[in-house]
Amino acid sequence: MTNAQTTTAKTFDVEKIRRDFPSLNQSVYGKPLVYLDNAATAQKPNAVIDVTEHYYRVVNANIHRGVHRLSQLATDAYEGAREKIRNFINAEKASEIIYTRGCTEAINLVAATYGRQNVGAGDEVLITEMEHHSNIVPWQALCEEKGATLRVAPVNERGEVELEAFERMIGERTKIVAFAHQSNSLGTINPAKEMTRMAREKGAATLIDGAQSIPHFRVDVRDLGCDFYAFSAHKMYGPTGSGALYGREELLESMPPYQLGGDMISAVSFEKTTYNKLPYKFEAGTPNIAGGIGFGAAVDYVESIGIDEIERYERELSDYAWEKLRAIEGLRIIGTAEDRGAVFSFVVEGAHAHDLATILDVEGVAVRAGHLCTQPILKKFGVPAVARAAVSLYNTREEIDRLVEAIEKAKRMLG
Ligand code: PMP
Repeated sequence: MTNAQTTTAKTFDVEKIRRDFPSLNQSVYGKPLVYLDNAATAQKPNAVIDVTEHYYRVVNANIHRGVHRLSQLATDAYEGAREKIRNFINAEKASEIIYTRGCTEAINLVAATYGRQNVGAGDEVLITEMEHHSNIVPWQALCEEKGATLRVAPVNERGEVELEAFERMIGERTKIVAFAHQSNSLGTINPAKEMTRMAREKGAATLIDGAQSIPHFRVDVRDLGCDFYAFSAHKMYGPTGSGALYGREELLESMPPYQLGGDMISAVSFEKTTYNKLPYKFEAGTPNIAGGIGFGAAVDYVESIGIDEIERYERELSDYAWEKLRAIEGLRIIGTAEDRGAVFSFVVEGAHAHDLATILDVEGVAVRAGHLCTQPILKKFGVPAVARAAVSLYNTREEIDRLVEAIEKAKRMLG
């Protein structure tokens, strides 16, 4: 195994893990916080906070061109983090990891470069019905600009992509196929390797939106065989405003730059500019240096526990949550796919999702409410808004019980 996400069995001690996250140790309205808004953003461990603080307190310097000591330290830490991210997703080269502001910017980067270069009038881009707005709108705008067609693969009543239809919809004119590894609203885990193979067989480029998968289970971009993989640091315990795009070298080499300016050039004159090598060609201007370093610390943190251990624990906890939530009368879970992650979107009869979330909040239970940036799929399920509880490695069975009690209380208040 070249990937450092080792399979070594480690003991998973949730109480010890909780102590790593200072923000979990607080009360909201006098009740101990139960944080279940993890699909929106995860809490940060001391390891990430400390590294970020250390950068600003001690190291603070710009990267890459500095001769002085601090600049070298900052560059080493920033480039060292890139290597950690490479290893984490088993990319072949660190130059295939482009730092971005997050998953959204990573998708926009591909749409604006590879997309503009390769999608023309009459071509098609294929996505699925369950996509986050971040994996819809950039493709929609690209298709509008180019006179291309955005096609949308259907999802069945359990919230699974209809694979036969998906495969049938990939045609000669399909230039890009983009889909989520795990849905942020339905929880569905898509058979990403199979879907990628279907697209590749027809010669289409593939982009996987990994925003929800990367914190929860092993991702190996070479095994998946995808061309692009987009993800954010903040959902895997890293800083906000930091993320990455993995791209296959051959494609990245062929693509024009995304933004223009400092750092992404190799030489500039008023007559002609030549661009820098990978990955810097796609990283114009001073980046989020502390964010990148913090991202690397988040990778270290996850690896110190073991991604397989995290997956095992979260699956167990999800099974528990699933049984408990399903037992609540009048509660409907949206998204019942066979293979699903630790995300539960639900509606409760007679209660608006926002009212429900507000009552839960007063009970100290933080969940998300609304359309979850997935308006089309919620419309398909006939619900304008849902409440969503998303489980993470630091959540416990007691917290699931608190969620259930709070929902029961909300039902009594609203019913
Ligand atoms: N895709 C999915 C599936 C997501 O859940 C999210 C975040 N909610 C995004 C994309 C966008 O991620 P970010 O806001 O970090 O760019």
